[in-house]
Amino acid sequence: MANNRTFRGGVHPLHEAHEGKSPTSGVATRDFNAKAVSIMMGMHLGAPSTPCVQPGDHVKLGQVIGEPVGFLGLPVHASVSGEVLEVGPVQSVNNPAAMAVTIKNDFKDEWVELHPLGDVETCPVDQIVPAIKAAGICGMGGAAFPTHVKFAVKEGQYCDTIILNGAECETHLTCDHRLMLEKSGRIVDGLRAAMRALNVKRGVIAIEDNKPDAIEAMTKAAQGRNGVEVMPLQTKYPQGGEKQLIQVVTGREVPTKKLPLDVHVIVLNVGTAAAIADAVIEGKPLISRITTITGRVKKPSNLRIRVGTRVEDLIAECGGFSMDREHVGKIVLGGAMTGFPAPSTRVPLAKANNGVVVYCARESVELEETPCIRCGRCVDACPIGLVPFKLKFMCEAGDMQAASANNIMDCVVCGSCSYICPAHRVLTSAFKAMKDQIAAEAKKGKG
Ligand code: SF4
Ligand code: SF4
Repeated sequence: MANNRTFRGGVHPLHEAHEGKSPTSGVATRDFNAKAVSIMMGMHLGAPSTPCVQPGDHVKLGQVIGEPVGFLGLPVHASVSGEVLEVGPVQSVNNPAAMAVTIKNDFKDEWVELHPLGDVETCPVDQIVPAIKAAGICGMGGAAFPTHVKFAVKEGQYCDTIILNGAECETHLTCDHRLMLEKSGRIVDGLRAAMRALNVKRGVIAIEDNKPDAIEAMTKAAQGRNGVEVMPLQTKYPQGGEKQLIQVVTGREVPTKKLPLDVHVIVLNVGTAAAIADAVIEGKPLISRITTITGRVKKPSNLRIRVGTRVEDLIAECGGFSMDREHVGKIVLGGAMTGFPAPSTRVPLAKANNGVVVYCARESVELEETPCIRCGRCVDACPIGLVPFKLKFMCEAGDMQAASANNIMDCVVCGSCSYICPAHRVLTSAFKAMKDQIAAEAKKGKG
C-alpha cells in the first residue's frame, strides 16, 4: 500500500529494534481495573483542577472530583467507584508533588447519573462542545490540550477540515492501532460529532500505511458517513505531528507562531474522537483509555486502564519484568522518540499517557556526547526546517534572544535530530529546556 503522501524531513526508526511494535500490534485490548488509583488534578495543558472531595467520601464512577480552573481548565472525574483515601501530592513524571485524589476501588463500577445527548447525527449541535468540556476531554495523543478549546473559533476564523490522527508514528505504541481495529465505529461517530459542532464538511482519518488492517477497518466504518474519508500516509516519523499532517492532508502550511485553525483545520487524535463519541452518545466522561505496556515485561499488552493507574500495577498485570529487577533500566512513559522516563514505578498514568516501555540496563545507557561534525543530518531530518546544530550552540551559550530569532519556539520536540545525530548531541532536551525558559520569561513579562 505504498504511497507518497508525506512531508519534508523526518526519520525512519523502522527496524524492529527501534520500532518495537510487533510484540503488541496483534494483541487484543483487555480491561484492567486496579485496586486503587491516584487521579492527578493536572493532567491537561492548563491550570490544575481543584479537588472537591475529601478523604472518607464515597465516590461514584464518573463523579466530578476536581473542578476546572481558568480558560484552559477541565473537570476531573473518578475513574473507579469507592472510597477516597487521600487528597494530596503524588510523584508524577515531571512533578514531585502533583496534587491527586487517591481512591480505593470497590469494583462495583457504580456510575454517577449520566446525561447523554444521543445519536451524533441528530443531537443538538450547540450542546456538543459543552459536552466535550464537561467530559474532561483533552488530547490523548500526548499534548493533552483541552479539546473544547480547539473548537473555540474566533471572529473571522472558520474550520473546513477536521483531521483525525491515526498515524501512530511513535515507536513501540500500538494503542491507537488497536482502537482503530476494535472501536472503528466509535471513532467515526466522534469525528462526525466534531464536524457537526462546527459545520465542517470534510473529515479525514489519516493512517500510516504500515497499518493496512486499520486502514481497512476505518474505511469500512466510514462508508456512508457524510464527508468522512480515510487517507493512507507514508510511514515516516513524525508523520503524526500536527503541522506535518495538515501539510500532507490539505497542502497548507501552518505559518510560524500560528495555529491549525489559522489555516482552517483542527487535528484530533483517534482516541480523542472516540472519547468525544462516548461523551455525546452515552454522556460518559474520560475515565479510561488504551495504553500499550511493552518492552522488558513478560506479557506485552494493550490494556484499557482507568485514569490514575500506577505503573507498578500495569507491570504486574503484564506478568512483571522479564528479567531480574537489577537488570532493568529506565521505564519510559511513551515511545522512544518523545517519551519521558518515569522517576518511580509509583507514578500514576494521566489521560494522555499512551504507553509504558520498560528497557533493560544495557538499552538505557546514554551515549557520550561528542563535538558536532557539521554533517547536516539534523537539518535534513528536522520536519520544521530548523537548523538544530546551530540552535544547540545557542542553547549552550544560554542565548535566548538568538534561539528565539532562529525560531526555536517552532520546534515540536519530535526527537528526529537527536535520533539521527552521529555525535549523539543532546539536542531535543536542550531545545525543550530552552523553550520552557523562553515561555517562563514571556509569562513573567506579561505578569
Ligand atoms: S547531526 Fe549532529 S553532528 Fe551532524 S550537524 Fe547535526 S548536531 Fe552536528
Ligand atoms: S529541532 Fe525540534 S522539530 Fe526539529 S528535528 Fe529537532 S526536535 Fe524535531
